[in-house]
Amino acid sequence: MKSTDRKFTSTERMLNALDALSKPQHIAEWQGEGNSKHIFRRTDPPLLDWLREAIVSNMGGSGGGRQARERTPMAVGAFTLYEDIDGRIRSWMMEAGGTPIKAITPTQIIRSWYALWQTSNPTDHRRDAYSGIMEGWADAIRDNLDPPKKIEITAPCPICGQEWINIGLKLLDGQDDPDDVERVRTLIAVERDNINESYAICKACDKVWKGVGQMRWLRIAIDDADATKATA
Ligand SMILES: [Zn+2]
Repeated sequence: MKSTDRKFTSTERMLNALDALSKPQHIAEWQGEGNSKHIFRRTDPPLLDWLREAIVSNMGGSGGGRQARERTPMAVGAFTLYEDIDGRIRSWMMEAGGTPIKAITPTQIIRSWYALWQTSNPTDHRRDAYSGIMEGWADAIRDNLDPPKKIEITAPCPICGQEWINIGLKLLDGQDDPDDVERVRTLIAVERDNINESYAICKACDKVWKGVGQMRWLRIAIDDADATKATA
């Protein structure tokens, strides 16, 4: 996976974001250890289709047979997300001078939108802005349909130095409500199958470490801080 280490051009970044939302994704990854190590291949549906199917199968009477209380929260989240994205893509299409009426799904619309929008010779800056939005949608869809593993990191944040933070209700003066206070670790790692989409976040200073390089930096910073403490 060396190719993921290099920096993408704005056009490549945008096509990656567009494809993740609107094209089937062919995934190949190593599984197992030693002699049983093998390449596992699978094809994931376009994220927008996956989201659409999740809604349809939850709303339809015959779908799945799961109990209502089990499916409702996800379906509601997925439905809101789908409506938001669908509305936004349709307005992009109209801004670009197209009409989104004929195309049925946002998956189809976003690809025709891209072809049309391309003809306006957008700057790298504009490409990056749209890529950022599409990457945000991809993350939101994955968070909704395939919630990642969250792991507390038992170390202080190397940026702000905080290790714990209080969450819960705040009183009007901004102090913590003593009846509703919970102390949690500031550093959380969010792990996905694709390591490039894994990240860690500090809840105290909002610093985010995303992808292999930055996650490695965080690990080293934490290990260094530990070593300094041990020799102090
Ligand atoms: Zn921090």
